[in-house]
This record gives sequence, structure tokens and C-alpha cells, in this order.
Amino acid sequence: MRSHAAEGWDCPFCRVAHGEEGEGPWTKRSDVIYHDANLTAFLSPHFWQRNPGHVLIIPNRHYENLYDMPDDLLGKVAVLSRQVALAMKRAYGCDGTSMRQHNEPAGNQDVWHYHLHVFPRYTGDDLYRSSATLTTPEERRPYADRLREALQVMDVRVAEGPVARSDAGRAV
Ligand SMILES: [Zn+2]
Repeated sequence: MRSHAAEGWDCPFCRVAHGEEGEGPWTKRSDVIYHDANLTAFLSPHFWQRNPGHVLIIPNRHYENLYDMPDDLLGKVAVLSRQVALAMKRAYGCDGTSMRQHNEPAGNQDVWHYHLHVFPRYTGDDLYRSSATLTTPEERRPYADRLREALQVMDVRVAEGPVARSDAGRAV
């Protein structure tokens, strides 16, 4: 499968997985709610109008999209998505949850590193016809804190912090 990333593209999600902080409003370590040897989950910098605090789950290793993902890693993503969804139920009191995942430009993918969106849903929120706005790390922090707390209560292993680049993606 050919890559849609431009030559020399600097992948922002690899930087998140390796514990590096983005500039300005982009992802900080305070946005990361879960991290292990394989996966990282963090608050999306974009909030949908009536669904604030949605989460992105990424593999720490760079895979462009669903087509490239190893089966065992996809299984781990599915399990973590359930844990994040349940944490949202607990932390936000949302009525439901939704997952969204995009592949290739025609599939609305815009970052060339596999990511699964986990959204909190509310009755009548009209998610699929509303738009997103870029938030600040300060706006996201209370959502991240509440999700981390919920994961802790649920006894989901909470990371001590992103691993260094040299350790990322190593087998456990
Ligand atoms: Zn990447």
C-alpha cells in the first residue's frame, strides 16, 4: 500500500508516542491518559461542539493506517478502546460512546499514523453533523485528569509517563 505522507513528513503522533510535546496548542504530556509499551491514548487537540474530551488511541510504532496494523496490535487497540469508553462513562457521565477511524484521504484521514477516535456521546448531540475546534492544553487538562482518575479507579494500568524514543515499541 503506498504511503500518502509527503516525503520527509515529520509524524506528530510518533512524537506523542515518544513523549515529546507539540508546540502551542498541540499535544502535551498532560494530554496523555494512558501509555504502555504498545499504545498511547491522549486527548484530541480538537473538541467537537457537544462532545468535548474525545480521545485518540495510537500505536507507539508508526503504522500509516488500518491496512498496515498487525492483528495482535489491533486487538490491543480494541481492548483499550473499551477501557477508555468505560472511563468516559464514569468520568463524563456520557449517555454512550462512538469510535471513528479513517483511512486514506478519501476516508478523511489527515494524520498518516493509525489512530482511533473514541467519542463520548450524548442523546441528540448530532456528532456527525457538528464541527470541531482547536483547544488549548489548559482547556483539555480537566478532561484528561478525570479520565486518568477513572482509569485508575477501574484499575487499568496507568503509565508513569511516555517512554523514551529508544524504548518505544519494544516488546514486553
Ligand atoms: Zn507516526
